[in-house]
Amino acid sequence: MSSVKVGFYGHVRQYHNLQNEIDAAIHEVLESGSYVMGPKLKQFEKDLSAYCGTTEAVGVNSGTDALWLAFMALGIGPGDEVITTSNTFFATAEAIWIAGATAVFVDCDPKTCNIDVNLIERAITPRTKAIVPVHLYGQPAEMRAVAEIARKHKLFVIEDNAQALGARGPDFTLGELSDAMCTSFIIQKNLGCFGDGGAVLTNRADLAETVRRLRNHGSPKRSVHSMGYNSRLDDLHAAVLSVKLKQLDNWNDRRRKFARQYDEGLNGTSLKLPTALPGYRHVYHLYVVETEARDNLQAYLLERGITALTHYPIAIHQQEGFPWGHQARIVGSLTHTEASAARVLSMPMYPELTGEEVQAVIDATVAWDKTPAGRSKAANP
Ligand SMILES: *Cc1c(COP(=O)(O)O)cnc(C)c1O
Repeated sequence: MSSVKVGFYGHVRQYHNLQNEIDAAIHEVLESGSYVMGPKLKQFEKDLSAYCGTTEAVGVNSGTDALWLAFMALGIGPGDEVITTSNTFFATAEAIWIAGATAVFVDCDPKTCNIDVNLIERAITPRTKAIVPVHLYGQPAEMRAVAEIARKHKLFVIEDNAQALGARGPDFTLGELSDAMCTSFIIQKNLGCFGDGGAVLTNRADLAETVRRLRNHGSPKRSVHSMGYNSRLDDLHAAVLSVKLKQLDNWNDRRRKFARQYDEGLNGTSLKLPTALPGYRHVYHLYVVETEARDNLQAYLLERGITALTHYPIAIHQQEGFPWGHQARIVGSLTHTEASAARVLSMPMYPELTGEEVQAVIDATVAWDKTPAGRSKAANP
């Protein structure tokens, strides 16, 4: 049995790798006395919009806030419908409900687990206001098709890009084909701070201006207010994020390298491995395999000191109490979403892994595949 223990996160390793730069950035903010809406926030917004190729970036308090503030800024609210998927982190739909709108779920494409673009049009009604594609696991949704449907039906597109910063399509960048793109900086995302943070990215100056007001009590200038909220990205986190952003491409390259190692090492097992669409730069926020014997594989790995987690084992529409008095509609069946919830397992995937650790996960998984449980129940889905 391998003695290599492999955890699910590399947060502390990441901090140690950049400790001097991060400590200096934090110290500078502390000494400056500018902690909220200061120069580090402005600088990070510049850095992030330059990185993403959008004209505007607005730092907010979380990815969830980024989404609902974007909905608010676009005037999406009660009576409106927003089309998205149910196999995503809960916050995608939660933000729709916070805005007061109706979440409309269509099934995912079983290959990518992203929204099945062929199912969107039949979900459109006169109340539909927007489509929210999620770039799940680090792979862009098929944005050309989403944008074409949105153009034809005059809908807004808000990208939930909490998981794929630095990814791109074959002929589009993320943030290019939508009204707004929302991201999260909670530590487990590809770019993470030491607490909560998020941003709205857009090429629409009017929209950026509205989100800037909304995040700060509806205030265009000192002492002047209209209805808004308090959802600011603080300067400490902005300063840390500017340091880390410089590493993001390098980190994503390491994720892609480890994904290739997994692909090669697990090829030939009964597991369904992730599919990267041709020409897409998938940044493997998560490396998700599928097997009918998911719980058995997860327990087997854990016994060998390897932590694999599930994203997401309960789809939003399967959560107890759904939809909690809010409005939701399911169009067609969510067969693939439900099948995937029962089968997904996320292998350790972060830039601070070593090739040896990835190999230990591969070896344990290949050994599991030869056990009776692996052989009998792990029919390739
Ligand atoms: C993390 C995440 C969010 C929410 O971000 P928070 O910063 O935790 O509020 C929204 N959507 C998706 C797909 C996510 O992964």
